[in-house]
Amino acid sequence: MIEIKNVSKWYGDFQVLNDCSTKVGKGEVVVVCGPSGSGKSTLIKTVNALEPFEKGEITVGATSVGDPRTNLPRLRAIAGMVFQHFELFPHLTVTENLCLGQIKVLKRSREDARARAWTLLERVGLSGHKDKHPGSLSGGQQQRVAIARALSMDPVVMLFDEPTSALDPEMVKEVLDVMTDLASEGMTMMVVTHEMGFARRVADRVIFMDEGRIVEDCPKAEFFGDVNARAPRTRLFLSKIL
Ligand code: ATP
Ligand code: MG
Repeated sequence: MIEIKNVSKWYGDFQVLNDCSTKVGKGEVVVVCGPSGSGKSTLIKTVNALEPFEKGEITVGATSVGDPRTNLPRLRAIAGMVFQHFELFPHLTVTENLCLGQIKVLKRSREDARARAWTLLERVGLSGHKDKHPGSLSGGQQQRVAIARALSMDPVVMLFDEPTSALDPEMVKEVLDVMTDLASEGMTMMVVTHEMGFARRVADRVIFMDEGRIVEDCPKAEFFGDVNARAPRTRLFLSKIL
């Protein structure tokens, strides 16, 4: 569903991604972890073309991400993204946040968009908040709105960049629960997170990045199983966060 092939990227002289390759199959959940600055955000942002890359190839389904003819709003619909800081439109209501892309990009009627929005708000447990503005919701609620907004575009994959790291601890679970449900419904997901409990429960594979490289890319059981079989950099990281 996602194929990343030999991708490299530079900021000036600084190489932020170094020959990264991986695949995420349909229905697979891949957790990406690694130290700060290792390139995790940059890597997942290349998948929906929020970051350009200089070398390599990325495809999402049949769409070639680096192809200049690719329709970027459509790519960003099929590869929905959820950010650490929600990035909702503060001046729009929750319902309007969920309708905008559907109307503009998918050309849905206002009625169809609203119906889809309300179904999704119910699914993430926010039916009672549909006419509120994001600013009046808790962080956990705003993040669930952001997930529902991405889902409103009928994505084939969902990309998450540290979706719970800006949340108060008591709100982390409500967001992880929504993500866990999504995974169990078969959504293809690439999730940058340090929530190793989530990785253990939900991930199929774990990728560990360091200095722009994919150092480990292995099934969850292997990643968490024999720590001594991991690369030294991975062991050091795991010793700090587990
Ligand atoms: P974190 O865990 O802190 O979110 P990360 O693994 O997501 O880190 P990235 O945000 O992908 O890391 O950044 C990777 C490296 O690229 C960092 O060293 C960062 O300083 C650098 N970088 C990121 N964006 C830019 C930019 N626009 N210009 C120059 N360097 C950048
Ligand atoms: Mg990051």
